[in-house]
Formats: sequence, C-alpha cells, structure tokens
Amino acid sequence: MHDVKAVPFLDLSAQYKELEAEWFDAIRVAGQSGAFVLGPNVAAFEKEAGAYTGAAHTIGCANGTDALILSLRALDIGSGDEVITSPFTFFATAEAVTLVGAKPVFADIEADSYNIDPERIRERITPRTKAIIPVHLYGYPAKMDAIMKIAREHNLAVIEDCAQAFGAMIGDKRVGSFGDAGTFSFYPTKVLGCYGDGGLISTGRDDINERLRRLRNHGAYKAYMHNEIGYNSRLDEIQAAVLRIKLRHIERDIAARTVVATEYDRCLSALGIGLPARPSYGRHAFNIYTIRVKNRDRVRQVLTDNKIASSVYYPHPLHLQDVYQSLGYACGSMPISEQAVSEVLSLPIYPGMPLVYVERVADVLKTALKAAG
Ligand SMILES: *Cc1c(COP(=O)(O)O)cnc(C)c1O
Repeated sequence: MHDVKAVPFLDLSAQYKELEAEWFDAIRVAGQSGAFVLGPNVAAFEKEAGAYTGAAHTIGCANGTDALILSLRALDIGSGDEVITSPFTFFATAEAVTLVGAKPVFADIEADSYNIDPERIRERITPRTKAIIPVHLYGYPAKMDAIMKIAREHNLAVIEDCAQAFGAMIGDKRVGSFGDAGTFSFYPTKVLGCYGDGGLISTGRDDINERLRRLRNHGAYKAYMHNEIGYNSRLDEIQAAVLRIKLRHIERDIAARTVVATEYDRCLSALGIGLPARPSYGRHAFNIYTIRVKNRDRVRQVLTDNKIASSVYYPHPLHLQDVYQSLGYACGSMPISEQAVSEVLSLPIYPGMPLVYVERVADVLKTALKAAG
C-alpha cells in the first residue's frame, strides 16, 4: 500500500530546512554582537522561557544534568542528605544526587504513567530526607498535587526533572512551576532541543534564583569575586538563539507530536499491547511514545530487520546499576520498574513524522507480535 523503506527514530531535517534562514540570521547577529556566552540572547531566552513555563525566574545553564546539580546545590542538599527519586529514569537524575554528596533513595513507579508513585514516596521518608525529584518521564506529567502535599507535610524540597517534558501541563500550569525548582534539558532529542547541549532551571523562589546565577558561573557574585565554589555551566549565545526560534514553534511541535501519538493509538489499539496512558489531569508532551510488549527483544529485532528504528528507555533500573550496588537494593525490591525495563519499547515520534510511517510501524509490529509469539 505504501512504499516506506525505512523509519528513523527521529528526523529533524524538515524542521531544520524550514527554519534555516532564521538560524543563519541568528548566528550572524550573535557573531556580530561579540557576546558569545551569557549575552543578550541568553537573557532574552530566559525571559521567553519563563513566560512560557510560568516560572518567575529561569536560569540558563550548560545541560540538564547540570540543571539538577545546580538546583540541589542551591537548595543546600549534600553530604548526609537523602533524596527520593525514581529508579526508572535516565541515569543523570540519580547521578546528580550522588555528585553533590547526597544519597539517592529510590521509590517505585506507577505501572501506567511510569512516574514515581506518591504512595511509595511516603514509605521512603526518613529523618535524613531533604528532597524529592519526580521525573516527568516521556513527557507524562507526574502527580504533582500529591507530591507537593507530601513535601509540605514533611518539609521537603521538590525538584521537578522536566528534561523530557517541556510544555507538559497539569491543569493550566506547565511543569517546572510546581516544585522549588524545575530542570530542563535542551539536548537535541528533547521536546525543545538546541544544536548541542543546553539546560535551564525554573524557580519561583527569589533566594535560589540569585544563588543559581552565581553557582552556574563559578560562584562569582561579581566579576572575579567568589563567595562559594560553583561551576562553569553557562548557556551560550548560539544555542540560546536557536532555542528562541524553536520556542516560537513549540506549541505547534507538541500538537504535531500528539497527532502522531493519536495515530499510533488508533493503529495499535487492536493489537492487545500496552499503549501509553494519557493523564486525566493534564497534557502529555509526547517526547517519547512507549508501548509495552512481552518478548520485547524479539519484537524489536523484527522491527530492526524491517529498518524501523526503536529504542528502549530504559533497559536497566537505577537501583540495580553496578555503581549503586553499595546502596543495597535487592532484585525484586522495585517490582513495577523491574517489569517495565523488560517490556518497554519506544517507537519513532517527532513533529511532522509522516503518518504513513506510523502505519508502516503498526503493520510490521503486528507481524512481529505474531512471530514473537
Ligand atoms: C536528558 C535527561 C537528563 C539530562 O539532560 P542532559 O542535558 O543530557 O544533561 C536528565 N534527566 C532526564 C530524565 C533526561 O531525559
């Protein structure tokens, strides 16, 4: 019916071509201005991203991992402290906790949203607990109402890991505006991606806004004057220029991702596999479209044999990573996450992905499910 030869996981070439003239104008202006790091584009992007996310302050930084590290530092979280997070996320979420000297404590996820389960958070609170890092995984907003309630009851800080969820919403508010801080990554594969590395922190707190601005720039409160040890974690002008252009199209991009997700839902609904849930209380940003299948690796091989790209986010839960063996989690201690890692399969999705690709993926998937038994 359709002659699709191959389906890439992500193809941003159409978007690049559409905006090519704007890129080059922006880069020319940045070059001519002579400001390359933390200049006018960064300041303008911070303002525009703040207006979009609804956070009082937004602070650009080098990447999403640094955004987590800087937020933890600004909230005075370090040695002796415990931070509760999800074991089913990208490694950086827990890595940042370890890097500031604190201890990651894992709480299992919900089977339908893949996000941290508020009930499991309660069970992990100790006198040393200082913060919770919920992750809005795949673009699905975590249950912030319940999480903020627990945080208030126990006087805990909350850092939202929004790396995969720029533009995801709860009610009429965007993620990153609920906790003490929200952290974003602009790695090219994210919902809002630049042309290299970039990151952002959002916060409603005046006190940590000032501190975050110092920490990202070597702890300097003015030129060559330092009152604490910080980082070199700045956003550069060219990435900020790219982000400003892409931010103007973000609502269109999220709508385009949702069209692809809805078409997948339609084409896959009769296959008897797990499809991504939609939050009843908000908007999924569909950075990633993840299904659940038995015999996942065999199904995936059939897709690969038919030139259909796919990914597994994530094949190994963090509580069982080699480097975290010393934390002492046993196999079976996080059953929902441990089952998810063996069943999840993420399918191609990006703004403007042709719907014939979705139909091709669905056709091959049907065959693959039969073949994999
Ligand atoms: C991508 C990602 C990060 C890290 O962002 P970088 O910009 O790559 O450092 C952190 N957490 C999650 C959930 C991510 O997906």
